[in-house]
Amino acid sequence: MKIKSILLICMLTISLSACKTDGLISSAGSLVTGLTINETQLKAEAKLSAQEMDKKIPIAPAGNQYAVRLHNLTKNMTTYDGLTLNYKVYLVDEVNAFAMPDGTVRVYAGLMDLMNDDEVLAVIGHEIGHVALKHSLQQYKKAYLAKAAREGLSATDSTVGNIAGAYGDIGEAFLNAQFSQKDELESDAYGVTVLHKMGHDPYAAVRAQEKLQQLGSQDSVFSSHPPSQKRIDLARAAADKITGK
Ligand SMILES: [Zn+2]
Repeated sequence: MKIKSILLICMLTISLSACKTDGLISSAGSLVTGLTINETQLKAEAKLSAQEMDKKIPIAPAGNQYAVRLHNLTKNMTTYDGLTLNYKVYLVDEVNAFAMPDGTVRVYAGLMDLMNDDEVLAVIGHEIGHVALKHSLQQYKKAYLAKAAREGLSATDSTVGNIAGAYGDIGEAFLNAQFSQKDELESDAYGVTVLHKMGHDPYAAVRAQEKLQQLGSQDSVFSSHPPSQKRIDLARAAADKITGK
């Protein structure tokens, strides 16, 4: 497999100094106040972003080998932990996957080429963790509010679908956002649990991380912050615990 670029947005270990404020700083630096948005609205907004991304990025059609493989892997996980999930493959040769607060899960063909079924499911479980633990919601909220600020939205605009034509941009900002190391570790542990509950090998989470770490030494993006040995060790410890070793 030729890896054009490595964009594994959330298997990275760097810890960002996350924006602490819920108030909005516009691009001009002025504070936008009064725009409030609740979880239900944010999920609806996220769905709009997912729809825009699906229009822009080629999706594996039904019957495509990647689509069939992902379907078989996830057919018993269309609901999980109270979430309703929908899965598709992006036919892009990048090692990447993401999940959005509305339950959209997208897996890139490059990741499926790199990993076996259990390992792909480990990554999916990790991404579902970000949704279940509301990390994705917070990231999407930041991306949405930043865009809303730039568009000059105010309290009277807090209805779903109010930023015409901007949902692709928000989705892109969401994809480029990075989770904190704490969030990553929590999702790693969650992913191990997903594997175990679904009858797969929990140690696949360890192997998936090791593969990403190996990639890190070959790629300029990953080499600056590959999955850390600490994360690999903690994933192994979580697998040991859940299997009673
Ligand atoms: Zn992550």
